[in-house]
Amino acid sequence: MATNERIDHLERLLEVVRGLTTAPDLPTFLQTIISEATELTNSELASILEYDEDASELRFLAMQWFERDLLRPMGVPLEGSAAGWVFRKGQPLIIQDVHADQRHFKVVDRMTNHLTQSLVAVPLMVRGHVVGVLEALNKKDDAHYTEEDLTILETLGALAAQAMENVDLARKVRVSKIELAELERLKSDFIAISSHELRTPLGLILGHATFLRELAGNQFSDQLDTIIRNATRLKEIVESLSDVDNLQNGSARVRGNKVSMTKIVEDVASSFRAEAEHRNVILRTECGDQPNYIHADQGKITIALSNLVKNAIQFTESGGHVTIQVSEDTGYVKVIVLDNGIGIPARDLPHIFERFYQVETHLTRRYGGMGLGLSVAKAMIELHGGRIWAESFGRGSTFTFLLPMTQRGNPDAPTTPFV
Ligand code: ADP
Repeated sequence: MATNERIDHLERLLEVVRGLTTAPDLPTFLQTIISEATELTNSELASILEYDEDASELRFLAMQWFERDLLRPMGVPLEGSAAGWVFRKGQPLIIQDVHADQRHFKVVDRMTNHLTQSLVAVPLMVRGHVVGVLEALNKKDDAHYTEEDLTILETLGALAAQAMENVDLARKVRVSKIELAELERLKSDFIAISSHELRTPLGLILGHATFLRELAGNQFSDQLDTIIRNATRLKEIVESLSDVDNLQNGSARVRGNKVSMTKIVEDVASSFRAEAEHRNVILRTECGDQPNYIHADQGKITIALSNLVKNAIQFTESGGHVTIQVSEDTGYVKVIVLDNGIGIPARDLPHIFERFYQVETHLTRRYGGMGLGLSVAKAMIELHGGRIWAESFGRGSTFTFLLPMTQRGNPDAPTTPFV
């Protein structure tokens, strides 16, 4: 082959490579492959066949336009056809004289009123699997197919296979996204329905148990305290569930006021002091002397911080310590909850803010909880235009969140719009 011709071939192959990302759709791209395969190998025709798993035969996926209606409905068997041989063996094939070879499938010729004389065919491979066949028929001027033709067809075949694989992957991603959205919807529905249905009976249990506790005096007080304590715990879980649900479906509202983050930290620390002492964990605050004003829904920020502090105490062994720090950081109030407890493995860190995610599985868990605390905290911080993240390097964990400060000079004005 002359050098100029070879350069021309290479340029045309490069153009096909570009089409892999620029072609508007798979049929257009495969049509380009067909016409380049025909022209570059100086053949009369070319076609791409794809394996149809259900029918266990090959089907025409791309071909010259004038053959479309005839070839589309036609199946090519794996036995007794050249394309089938290439598919089964995963090897290329050149047949210079089709009449002297048993492998040619004559039905296609009869249907298309075409006489095949010679052919060259290559398997289309995707990650080691054959998914189809690219073939060119009848080298013009009675010439023989060469190794050069085979190389061209192999290059085009690899591009066709890649394009088919891309489309298949895109389809799988679409299907997975739809399935995921459906699962997410089911999860949300389940949360919404169960939290709603549990709230009323739980309220009744708590109300009546508290009433009985007052009536009974010392009699049965331990049993009634146990009922009240556990019903209260259940109520907290139900509230977390509906908090997450409201935040997810966008019905949560922030009723913002000017509040001091320093005061929230001191209040939360006081409410956990008894529990920390009970577990022999030292609970400290480092707040400085600034009020650190934010424009926020105090209840929601208190819940977010409480969830972090509760975890920090829970996941820290006896003798350990938990510190809550507040400071100002370039227009934001920064709150850090750090502990020297069991820490969080690196592989779990990216997931701990997901709903129901727990480092230990339910079966092996030593700690209580539902895997909701952090997702609630994250949603509440983000609802206020803030950001939250976690770090852990072997031992201990650090949770940090930032909330926009109220602007200086106009302390009542929020820096982010609230509903
Ligand atoms: P749960 O209510 O089950 O504690 P969370 O959403 O609050 O759920 O936390 C998710 C998981 O993150 C926990 O189960 C725990 O494994 C891990 N985790 C959270 N905080 C800490 C911490 N301070 N130290 C170690 N692990 C933590």
